[in-house]
Amino acid sequence: MLDELLHLFYPRICAGCHVPLAQDEREICRKCIASFDRFSDAEAADYAVKEVFRHNIPVGDRPERAWALYRFHENDRLRRVIHAMKYDGEHRLGKVFGTFLAEMIGDTAAVERFSCIVPVPLHRLKVIERTYNQSEVIARSLGEALGKDVLVDLVVRKKYTRSQAGLSPSERQSNVGDAFIPSGRVSPENILLVDDVLTTGSTAASVMQALRSAGAGTVSLATIALAA
Ligand SMILES: [Zn+2]
Repeated sequence: MLDELLHLFYPRICAGCHVPLAQDEREICRKCIASFDRFSDAEAADYAVKEVFRHNIPVGDRPERAWALYRFHENDRLRRVIHAMKYDGEHRLGKVFGTFLAEMIGDTAAVERFSCIVPVPLHRLKVIERTYNQSEVIARSLGEALGKDVLVDLVVRKKYTRSQAGLSPSERQSNVGDAFIPSGRVSPENILLVDDVLTTGSTAASVMQALRSAGAGTVSLATIALAA
């Protein structure tokens, strides 16, 4: 009842196209979701994510298994939605994407193996600036849907890195190089790492390395989207 009243006075709008949402739509309208460049299935996504690592990080950590929902492109609606999630305080979007990822991952036997879910940490100064870590929001939504614990204190971000936007792949690599270190807590065996979007894979690779130093046996990866 209260929700309906609030809806009347403050109509919820779509994060992609800004039209009012239908009663059964959550944060993003059907038209926008239909416009997103979605991977045909989990296998296609796994291959595409690993291809990003093969291409950008010839030597280094690779995810054991990987999931991604979409590819995003210049000026597409998904890019606008992701921007709103990261910079405009639209943390509810992270929850929605977390449930979408759970639907994709939930179909596979791999879920049973994960001891826990770990979000890519954000430097505490950035958490203050943005008020929340979007990867953690996605991870908590995913964890709730899959019935897995979310651990946020296994790895810490050491350096306050510059924003990755506008940097070349090699600049990105050095920008995040050694940015993550184990916190000192021993890692459970099989980890599902959550990164909001994947561009070169260098951030995720750095976290994977820190998790392995902390004792993780395998690290798999889930992300909303790959840069095209
Ligand atoms: Zn829309």
